[in-house]
Amino acid sequence: MIRVDYSEPSSAEWKQWKAAQAAQAAKARDAFKAGDPPPEVGDPIDEDRKAEIREAFHRKCAFCEAPITIKKPGNVRRYRPPSQVYDIDGNRVRITAGDLKFLHPGYFWLANEPSNLLYTCSGCAPKDERKRDCFPVLGDEYGWPPGKENDEVRLLFHPIDDDPEQFLNLDGGSGILVGADERAQVSIEVLGLNREELRDVRSKTFAKVSALLESVCNANPSKPDQATFINGTLDTIVSSSKPSHPYSFVYRSALKKYRPRIKPLLDELLALASRRRQPRP
Ligand SMILES: [Zn+2]
Repeated sequence: MIRVDYSEPSSAEWKQWKAAQAAQAAKARDAFKAGDPPPEVGDPIDEDRKAEIREAFHRKCAFCEAPITIKKPGNVRRYRPPSQVYDIDGNRVRITAGDLKFLHPGYFWLANEPSNLLYTCSGCAPKDERKRDCFPVLGDEYGWPPGKENDEVRLLFHPIDDDPEQFLNLDGGSGILVGADERAQVSIEVLGLNREELRDVRSKTFAKVSALLESVCNANPSKPDQATFINGTLDTIVSSSKPSHPYSFVYRSALKKYRPRIKPLLDELLALASRRRQPRP
């Protein structure tokens, strides 16, 4: 999981849809304030809007980075659940406001707010509502009433607002993600980021990239064919480590591990190139 390089869709249709959803959300908030029960979640998201969101997330899961394909199409997941909230133990969250105690009705006013809409694989948006609608916050101190949600200390990484990479480490051999702080550990648990299929793909990818990097480190930069191999291989791996690439975190982790050995090689290549450019006396 890394921070997504995200740009909100900008088509005229998107802007129109966004404005309509914002108007609905404001109306719902006012009605709730006036004492009406929590309203229904916003409009279902049509296929064209879903396609725009999918593109904005580079056709990969916002959480686990699995590629979104025709066979594994994924869907839009709401970051803050709009119709009910579960804690990490699988219990419905209750709000205490003065003398009142009631079940958290969900963040209905954020249902179709663009920053709440993430494109994810089906594994990161399970059908089990206790998992799908799990949104833990520090100390169970939920922001209330609507509008106070920014006072909560979220324990689930937001893949655009947060930089998860800073708090996650990959054990390359097993493919297991290890969280460096509570938020990382909770995010791994809530999203099931160490499920078998992900561990498998991460460990296999890490082994493949490591083998290539090992060959790069053992190549001789002063031999032209091997210099070409070094440059070509590194270009390919660096390009796969870009945020838009599936499982980029694995490529980034492998590059991080090999950086101390690659750096002198690149310095040598630069020195050789500069010597070649020097005019002969
Ligand atoms: Zn996923």
